[in-house]
Amino acid sequence: MAFDSSLDRAREVLLRVFGHAEFRGYQGEIIGEVLAGRSAMAVLPTGGGKSLCYQIPSILRPGLGLVVSPLIALMADQVAALEQSGVAAARLDSNTDPHKREAVWRSIDAGKLDLLYVSPEGLMQPWMLNRLSRIPIAVVAIDEAHCVSQWGHDFRPEYRMLGRIAEVFPDAPRLAVTATADARTRADIRAELRLEDAREFVDSFARPELQLAAERKSGQAHARVEALVLERPGRAGVIYAGSREGTERLAERLKAAGVNALAYHAGLDKTARDQRLTRFLNEDNVVMAATIAFGMGVDKPDVRFVIHADPPSSIEAYWQEVGRAGRDGEPAEAITLYGASDLAWALRRIDSREMATEVKQVQTRKARQLYAMLDGLGCRAAAVRRYFGEENVEPCGQCDLCLSPPQSLDATQQAQKALAAVHRLGSGRYGRGRIVDHLLGKTKDPAPHEQALSTWGIGGELPAAHWRGILDQLLFEGLLREDPNDGRPLIRLGDADAVRAAYRGERKVQVREPAPTRSGRPRKARAAAAHVELSPDGQFLFDSLRAWRREEASRQGLPPYVIFHDKTLQEIAAARPQSLDALAGIGGVGASKLERYGEAVLRAVRMA
Ligand code: ADP
Ligand code: ZN
Repeated sequence: MAFDSSLDRAREVLLRVFGHAEFRGYQGEIIGEVLAGRSAMAVLPTGGGKSLCYQIPSILRPGLGLVVSPLIALMADQVAALEQSGVAAARLDSNTDPHKREAVWRSIDAGKLDLLYVSPEGLMQPWMLNRLSRIPIAVVAIDEAHCVSQWGHDFRPEYRMLGRIAEVFPDAPRLAVTATADARTRADIRAELRLEDAREFVDSFARPELQLAAERKSGQAHARVEALVLERPGRAGVIYAGSREGTERLAERLKAAGVNALAYHAGLDKTARDQRLTRFLNEDNVVMAATIAFGMGVDKPDVRFVIHADPPSSIEAYWQEVGRAGRDGEPAEAITLYGASDLAWALRRIDSREMATEVKQVQTRKARQLYAMLDGLGCRAAAVRRYFGEENVEPCGQCDLCLSPPQSLDATQQAQKALAAVHRLGSGRYGRGRIVDHLLGKTKDPAPHEQALSTWGIGGELPAAHWRGILDQLLFEGLLREDPNDGRPLIRLGDADAVRAAYRGERKVQVREPAPTRSGRPRKARAAAAHVELSPDGQFLFDSLRAWRREEASRQGLPPYVIFHDKTLQEIAAARPQSLDALAGIGGVGASKLERYGEAVLRAVRMA
C-alpha cells in the first residue's frame, strides 16, 4: 500500500536523520496523515515529540515546510538542532539581517530548503504570502496552536490571522500542534484554522517523569523556596514568581546562599535577557528566577525542577510551566507554593480586566479549577489529566498526595466559630492575625466590648496555626473573602447563602490534616543523575563525554544539548561502542551527527 511505503520512508528518515528507531505515541499516525496530504491536529504533551510530526513530512514531501512559531528563541533552537542533523532549515524573523534574508530566499527559490520557521505576523505580511504562494509548500505547521483561542490561557491576537492560511495555500496540508488545549480550546483551534474535517490526535497528558507537589504558603514563602533549592544542589531549575521584583529578590537571596541563580523578566533589556538565557542553556546548574516571560521556547531538556513561588494562572499554564522540567524523560520535580490570597488576587485581576463577561467567567472558572487541584485531596497528576479530558485515569503513585495522603477532618464547628468571630467583630474590619487573636482571646489591649463578645476566646483550645488554616480553608471555599486594602488584607464574610448553610451545619467544612512529611523532598535525587545505571567507569566516561560536548558546543557557539542529549551520552557511556556502526545504534545518533562527531566520540570512549 502507498500509505505503508510512505510510512516506511518516514521511519527511514527517523532513523537516518534523527537517530531514533521507533515512532513515539501518535507520531507515526500523524506523519502518515500529513504525508497523505491531509490536515491534522495534534495535542501531544511537552516532550512528546511534536516537532518531528512536521519536520519529517517537510523533508519527505516535495516543497517547503513552513513552521509558524510564536517565539524567536524557539525557532533559533530548532533551526540549530536541525542543521546539526543535516537538515536544510532556516528562519526569517525581525532579527534576520538583510544578507541572511537574501541567502534564505535564494535557497527557497532554488528548492533547496526543507523547513522555514516564521512568526505569525511575519508570515501574514502580504508580500511574504505572495512570494510563498508561488512555490510548492509541503506542509504548514502551526506550533503552539492554542494561542489562537480566546478560551485558552495564552491568547495571541496575531494568531487570529492564521485562519487565512487555508485560502493562501489550498494544496498544503495544515498541522496544528500544541501541548495544552482543553476541549473548548480544541474546538476553537479547529474553527479558527479551518480544520473542521481534520483528524484529531490527543495523546495522554501523563508525564510519568514529573513528580508533582504543592504546599500552602506559610509565613515567608521565599525562605521556603530557598530551602527547596538548597535541597537540590547543582541542578538546573526554574522558579516562577508573580512579579519582576519578586524574581530579583529571589535571585539575590539564592545567590547569597551560594546558588548559581539569575533573574529573568520582561523588564530587563534584551541583551541582559539573551545573556542570561544563554547561561541557563549552556551551564548545567543555573537556577532561573523568572516571570512567565521566561518559558515558551526554552527547550532545555535537563531542567530538573520547576518551583512556583507564586502559583500559575490556570491548569493549562501550570502544565505548560511544570512541563519545562524533565523534557529529556529523566525524573524531575514540580513544586507549587500557593495561598488563599493568591486566589483572591487572581480573581480580582480577572475582574478588573477589560474583557467580555463570558471570557471573564471562563478565566474565573479556570482559576478556581487550578486551586481545587492545588488544594485538593486526590492525585494531582490524575486531576490534571481529567481536566484535559482523559478518562479512566489512575493515580500517579508519586505525587505528594499519592505518597502521603492527607487526612480530611470535619471542621464544620470550628468553621462556625471562625465565621461567627468575623461577623461579631465586624465583617471587613480586621485582618486574619487580629481575628485569630480574638478567637484565642489574646488580643493585645482588648476593648471591653470586644471581650464581651460571645466569640471572645472560643478558640483557645487550638493553636494559632490551626486557626490560620481554618481561615485559609474558608477563604478557598468562598465562605470568607479578603479585601486587598493596600497589602493589609481585611476579611469579610463571603457568599451569604453559603455562610448561612455553614452556620446551620448543612454545609460541611473539611480541612486537610497536613501530610506527615513535607512535600518536595528530592526523593529521586540519585535516580535523576543517571537514569541508565552507570558503573564508576561508565560515570567517568559520561563525565568526559560531557566535557568534550561542552568544548565542542562552545566552539560552535551552541547549547550543548543541540549536539547530543544527556540521555544519548549516558547510553554511549553504558554501551562503550567501539565502531561507528555500533555508535549509530545508539538513540539520538543520526547519520549527520555520526559523521560530525563519531570519531571524536569513539576517541573519548577509547581514552576513558
Ligand atoms: P515537544 O513535543 O515538546 O515539542 P520535541 O519535539 O522537542 O518535543 O521532542 C522532545 C524530545 O524527544 C527531543 O529530544 C526529541 O529528539 C525526542 N524524540 C522525539 N521523537 C522521538 C522518538 N520517536 N524516539 C525517541 N526520541 C524522540
Ligand atoms: Zn499522584
